[in-house]
Amino acid sequence: MNSIAQGFAKVRHQLQQAELAAQRPVGSVQLLAVSKTKPAADIAAAYWLGQRHFGENYLQEALKKQQELSAFDISWHFIGPIQSNKTKAIASHFAWVHSVDRLKIAERLSEQRPDYLPPLNICLQVNISDETSKSGIDLADLPDLVEQLSRLPRLRLRGVMAIPEPQLDYQAQCQPYRRLYQAVRLLKRSDLDTFSFGMSGDLQAAISEGATMVRIGTALFGERPSQ
Ligand SMILES: *Cc1c(COP(=O)(O)O)cnc(C)c1O
Repeated sequence: MNSIAQGFAKVRHQLQQAELAAQRPVGSVQLLAVSKTKPAADIAAAYWLGQRHFGENYLQEALKKQQELSAFDISWHFIGPIQSNKTKAIASHFAWVHSVDRLKIAERLSEQRPDYLPPLNICLQVNISDETSKSGIDLADLPDLVEQLSRLPRLRLRGVMAIPEPQLDYQAQCQPYRRLYQAVRLLKRSDLDTFSFGMSGDLQAAISEGATMVRIGTALFGERPSQ
């Protein structure tokens, strides 16, 4: 087995173990393979292992790989910070955006989503670590933003995404996800079915707290070059 095949085997096993430990159905958590900085050949290798959903952070890099892989039936997710001048390309070239953190960006994505494509799936990024440097909306603003985004015609609001401050302690990893999960549940909206929680370092905690999609890069494809 090559190292990407090993990475997928290991992560799929971890996902299954975490689903069982959380008493959730096996297969209920979707794996989003985060391929930022990795070449198209790595994505193709993952594709032949059955992976269909890929996450990218950098628009220009993603567009280039999408072109190289245009023959592949891939669902592309944008998960990086969004500048206003990038919304048109993001609205045209992705199936999902996980990193929406203000109304203005959502409005632009809705206006710019082409008619020939289905509505763009959206997660609101929520800052649950109270660090001023991290992007994401405040939890207190969630109810209003959910209302506002739900009215945008070319978007389909699916749920929330969070990137908590890295913690080694398991309980400390669980806590912010639990708060956000409960805040979303309180809204009593069955259309919010997506919790984009968990990365390579905290996928077990994320799954125990309700993740429906985990975003994994390093554990699948290996370390990225430091920037
Ligand atoms: C890079 C990245 C990931 C994947 O992180 P790993 O630690 O490599 O698994 C997940 N989510 C976001 C938003 C990222 O930028």
